[in-house]
Amino acid sequence: MSNLHEMYEKIGISEQVYQYGEKICASLKERFTAIDEVAEYNQLKVLSALQKNKVSDIHFAATTGYGYNDLGRDTLEQVYADIFHTEDALVRPQLICGTHALAIALSSNLLPGDELLSISGKPYDTLEEVIGIRPSTGSLKEYGVSYAQVDLLPNGEFDFEGIRNAIHENTKMIEIQRSKGYQTRPTLSVEKIGKAIAFVKSINPEIICMVDNCYGEFVETIEPSDVGADMVVGSLIKNPGGGLAPIGGYIAGTKKCIERAAYRLSAPGLGKEVGATLGIMQSFYQGLFLAPTVVAGALKGAIFAANIYESLGFKVVPDSVESRHDIIQAVEFGKPEYVIAFCKGIQAAAPVDSCAAPEPWDMPGYDSQVIMAAGAFVQGSSIELSADGPIKPPYAVYFQGGLTWYHAKTGILKSLQQIVDEGLVTVIK
Ligand SMILES: *Cc1c(COP(=O)(O)O)cnc(C)c1O
Repeated sequence: MSNLHEMYEKIGISEQVYQYGEKICASLKERFTAIDEVAEYNQLKVLSALQKNKVSDIHFAATTGYGYNDLGRDTLEQVYADIFHTEDALVRPQLICGTHALAIALSSNLLPGDELLSISGKPYDTLEEVIGIRPSTGSLKEYGVSYAQVDLLPNGEFDFEGIRNAIHENTKMIEIQRSKGYQTRPTLSVEKIGKAIAFVKSINPEIICMVDNCYGEFVETIEPSDVGADMVVGSLIKNPGGGLAPIGGYIAGTKKCIERAAYRLSAPGLGKEVGATLGIMQSFYQGLFLAPTVVAGALKGAIFAANIYESLGFKVVPDSVESRHDIIQAVEFGKPEYVIAFCKGIQAAAPVDSCAAPEPWDMPGYDSQVIMAAGAFVQGSSIELSADGPIKPPYAVYFQGGLTWYHAKTGILKSLQQIVDEGLVTVIK
C-alpha cells in the first residue's frame, strides 16, 4: 500500500489533499459498512430474481422488426416485477429517458376530467411541461387533466392536513417524488413515502399512487412499491442500469397500470407484445446485476464529498451525518469560481474526455448559465461520476454517481485539488 499515495500523485493529487481525504475516509468506516450491508442484501435480491426466472444466454439474443415473442425482454420485465414486488413491469429501450417513462405512466393512467395531485411539492423540472404547469403542446393539461399540488411542510415532512383537503372526487392519481432532485428539501425515505400512501389510500383506496423513483433505486433494502405504491418509475441511465444500460426506462406496478402504460407506449391492442430489443438486453441484465454495488459506490462518494466540504466550512445537503435516500449531493459554495473549479476537477477525473475543460453556458430551458462536468461512457448518464451547477446564488453544485467508489473518491479529491490549486481554500495536513 505504500505507493498508493504515489498513484494519487501521478493523477494530480497532492500529498496534502490525499492525506486530508484519508483522514475523512477513516472517520466513515462505520457508515460504509452499513452501505455495504444494504448492497449485499440488494445483490441477493437481484440474484434471486435472475435465478427464479432462469435467465440464460438465450435471453440476450437480439430481436428485430415487431419484436414478437422477445423472450429476453419479457423475462427481464418479470425480473423487475420480482425485484420491485409488483404484478408487472415495463422495461424498454423505447422508454427514452426518465421523463419519458414518467410521461407514459401519467398520460396512460389519467383521462380527461381526472386530476393529478403532487403531494411532494413541485415535481422535477422536466415534468412541468409534461403536466402543463408550464404551458406546452401535448401536455396533460391540454388533454383536460388538471393538476394540483401540496407542498411539503417547511421541515420536509408531508402535509397530511393539506393532502386531505386537496383530495376530491376527481383526484385520480397522486405523485410523490422520492429524490429531492435539484431542490434543497430532504429526500423522502421509503418509510415516509409508505405512510403518505397509506394515508391517501385511507381517504380513497382507488387513487393510484405513483412514485418518481429516479436516483432512489437500491439505496435502501425496500422500494416504494414495497409500501403500497401502484407504480414506481425511473431511468436506466441512473441507478438500475448499473452504468451499462445505454438507454431506457422502467415502470413497475399493478397489472392494470402497466397494461395502460404499455398501450400508450406502443399502441392500444399491441401493448407489451411488441418492441424489438435489437441486442441490447445483455446490458440491461448485466447492469441490473451490478446496480446494487454501483449504487453503493455512488453513495459512498456522496457521503465522502459531504464530509470533505462540510469540514471545510461549506453547507452541504444532505449534511455529513444524515441518512441517505438517494445518491445526490449538493454543496453550496456561495461563489461562482468554486462551482467552476469543482466541476473542472470532476471532469479532470473522468475516464472519458478528461482533457475537456467545462465552461458555463446558456443551456436551453434554464434561466442562468450552467456548468456541467461529465466524462461518461454513456452520454448524459448520471449514475456515472457527474456534476452540474447553475451559475446563480447560492452557487451550489450538484454531484452524483461514480461507477466505483474509488473513482468517486478520485473525482472528489480532484475537485478539492482544483479548488486548492486556485487558492480558494487551504487544507492543512
Ligand atoms: C432524472 C430525473 C428525472 C428525469 O429523468 P431524465 O432521464 O433526465 O429524463 C425525473 N425525476 C427525477 C427525480 C430525476 O432525478
